[in-house]
Amino acid sequence: MSTTINAPAQRLLGKVAVVTGGASGIGASIVRLFHSHGAKVCIADVQDDLGQKLCDSFCDPENVYFVHCDVAVETDVSDAVYNTVGKFGTLDIMVNNAGISGAPCPDIRNVDMSEFDKVFDINVKGVFHGMKHAAHFLIPKKSGSIISISSVSSSLGGVGPHAYTGSKHAVWGITKNVAAELGNHGIRVNCVSPYGIATGLALAHLPEEERTEDVKAGFRSFVGKNANLQGVELTVDDVANAVLFLASDDAKYISGENLMVDGGFTRTNHSLKVFRG
Ligand code: NAD
Repeated sequence: MSTTINAPAQRLLGKVAVVTGGASGIGASIVRLFHSHGAKVCIADVQDDLGQKLCDSFCDPENVYFVHCDVAVETDVSDAVYNTVGKFGTLDIMVNNAGISGAPCPDIRNVDMSEFDKVFDINVKGVFHGMKHAAHFLIPKKSGSIISISSVSSSLGGVGPHAYTGSKHAVWGITKNVAAELGNHGIRVNCVSPYGIATGLALAHLPEEERTEDVKAGFRSFVGKNANLQGVELTVDDVANAVLFLASDDAKYISGENLMVDGGFTRTNHSLKVFRG
């Protein structure tokens, strides 16, 4: 007997979402996908021109708007959430996506501690600000989904700078803890952990003028060679699809999870390579 799955064409119809870091990269893909699935979306980012441009591209001011928001500043995040509820009437989904990699520093003795603080302020406190202020509205509703973007660096060392790796482990840690509290209120809390993609963040160590198509192709080739899954390339849309799944009712009993979008990279022993020639 065959089973028919009637997945709704628009999996977030009428839902209201805030996406931090929504102006570019993975965040912009999440914004586009959420909008195509019927959600009303707030793009919250520090890149005003890019965020507004993305917003205008939808020609749908009733359902998408941009707000300047530095996630490291608690009042910016609370304003973004409160303004979204003011504009769209409610909140259902909080996506804490904004993040930075921080400057690479191959020698721990030279680590600039102000740079370390900056990474934690954005990647950890920024995520927690989103969870905290979303909870103000989700707890009374007794429903909602909070999704934060972590990284393969949430479970492995040696992939990114020290502060970045620490910050992404922290995102996974607070995801579990906040899921433990908010489960009492019917709210799901998860994170998504991608492998490498040639976004602004991945190339942030280079000046803008050096982020050429050749350099991006070189980055893609490097991550492709070091990936576990061969013959397929990770894109921002693959990450957005995982976020859509966790935001939708398809994931209605999934909470406290770290969904790896890494083609098995963090589950593979790369040193022995017994299955490769
Ligand atoms: P990106 O640089 O394209 O996007 C990051 C966005 O966050 C930008 O729009 C930027 O303006 C915004 N942002 C930065 N600081 C901010 C702040 N203080 N307040 C508000 N917005 C801010 O990079 P991306 O790859 O799309 O990164 C998105 C998330 O994905 C990050 O959390 C990152 O750590 C994570 N991630 C990326 C990769 C990768 O290889 N690209 C891998 C794993 C995880």
